[in-house]
Amino acid sequence: MRRLFALLLPCFVACGDDGSQAAPPPPPAPDPPAAPPVAPPVAPPAPAPFPAPHPAMPEVITLGGKVLTSPRFVVVTYDGDPFREKLEDFAAAIGKTQYWHDVTAEYGVGPASVGRPVHLSEAAPPSIDDAKDLKPWLEAKLDGTHAEWDAPDGQTIYVVYFPEGTTYHLEGFTGCKEFGASDNLLTRRDGSLVPYIAIPRCQNLFGLDAWGTLTAVTSHELFEESTDPFKDAYVTNDDDNLAWAEMPPFSEIGDMCMAAQPLYVQPPDLPHLVQRAWSNAAARAGKNPCVPAPNDGPFFNALPVFADSVPISYGRWSSWTKGVTIPVGQTKTIDVALYSEAAVDEWHVGVFDLDQVLGNAPSLQLRLDRTTGKNGDVLKLTIKSLAEAADKSARFAIVSQRGSASSFAWGLVAQ
Ligand SMILES: [Zn+2]
Repeated sequence: MRRLFALLLPCFVACGDDGSQAAPPPPPAPDPPAAPPVAPPVAPPAPAPFPAPHPAMPEVITLGGKVLTSPRFVVVTYDGDPFREKLEDFAAAIGKTQYWHDVTAEYGVGPASVGRPVHLSEAAPPSIDDAKDLKPWLEAKLDGTHAEWDAPDGQTIYVVYFPEGTTYHLEGFTGCKEFGASDNLLTRRDGSLVPYIAIPRCQNLFGLDAWGTLTAVTSHELFEESTDPFKDAYVTNDDDNLAWAEMPPFSEIGDMCMAAQPLYVQPPDLPHLVQRAWSNAAARAGKNPCVPAPNDGPFFNALPVFADSVPISYGRWSSWTKGVTIPVGQTKTIDVALYSEAAVDEWHVGVFDLDQVLGNAPSLQLRLDRTTGKNGDVLKLTIKSLAEAADKSARFAIVSQRGSASSFAWGLVAQ
């Protein structure tokens, strides 16, 4: 109705007025319709900028400790290890690549080299506990009476590979079952600190062969130990984003990317599979935070928008971070902000309860009002707290996917 009136109006003004004759009297207009309400002009919505406004991505932060500016890897293997030579070659190659620069340079770590490798002729133990056995063993090896072990020089990382048949225990957890490997620190009796890495020989990671599994795990530990050699450097992430920490508040630069797909890449200058790592610079710039990023188009992501400061607990540790409080049995709806670094078609958004992903009973029921969107869209996520999660801290993942490209984000529900 209103549109018809608008179309007719110009004609009444212009059609009969050519200036040559008097305008005919207007037709009688008995009972004119009431003037329609005047709507304010509606400007078309401005397209969202790239990236559209979104909560800040996490940053890995340092506690102020030293990083290794020129790491020196000493590879330690037992006689009979079928991968000894390849492991030594890999350690010698990785620290000189663009890949190494990409994952470590922004944190102050420089190119890495190797020291003289150590070949162990003794029998490997069937079981080794990190605190009870491995630390005293390493301290003894470095006492100056073992000529095959070069002394640490402040940049040295000893990388100890255990063979199949050795079970490695760390703080009550079993290697290859509850964790893959460990980047660690020996405090010697004289107080000096020696960074080391222990890598048990686990079953192949999903989709990788035995060698790919070894290089993938080794790369993770090498760049984490170099950026956090004394466990007081890049070891956690910012207060607002502790939901992203692997074991809050602990999260090193490799841990932050464990949900990235693909997790492992083969860089152009290194013919082996290695892990991607978190880049604060990329995250800040709205780019794929896990570098090197796959060449699969502009980065896109969906982030939960949290207004609350909520308690977060992990074992005996507790703090405050951003999240949403939903007591068990209650429901709340939050926004999910979508952004991309440049124009991309709509992508798919999925939400997953972490407990359910881990094979436990779900803690949360999660429902999105829409499962697709694009830069600038805001989805509504309705969360019901179903059951109490460990430490009353339930976590969920938001996964964005378009073709083979994907991204992820973590959210926290304090119960
Ligand atoms: Zn790690």
